Amino acid sequence: MPARESAITARVTGTRRAGVSHVIAEVKNMFCQKCGKEISDQASFCPSCGHMVSGMAMGPGFTSNKAVSPYSRLAALLLCLFLGVIGVHRFYVGKVGTGVVMIFTLGGLGIWVLIDFIMIIVGNFTDANGRYVLDWQT
Ligand SMILES: [Zn+2]
Repeated sequence: MPARESAITARVTGTRRAGVSHVIAEVKNMFCQKCGKEISDQASFCPSCGHMVSGMAMGPGFTSNKAVSPYSRLAALLLCLFLGVIGVHRFYVGKVGTGVVMIFTLGGLGIWVLIDFIMIIVGNFTDANGRYVLDWQT
């Protein structure tokens, strides 16, 4: 490794002498954007705060720093489409309170369900923890 390159590596990793093993460790491990804890690159979610590792399961269009819900967007969409009037998609993402309200109002006479359906499609639907339901994979 050229001296210049190792000097840059040392600066990046914040150590005086960056050994090769240390550089590999830096590449293999990532840090949670939310809580800053070190997490494995194998992990899809931060084990301490549940924050999704950005870019892992996202398509190329994923650009924001929104917290991503572990719930499936496809499942939420289908549940909203077929069982939306009884709030099943809301129960699915943990929004039990508004799910119950939805049952009694029959999905806000369909209007509320339609709004939720659009929100899921455009990626503005959130789960009970305020995380965005964006992931089409389960
Ligand atoms: Zn975290």
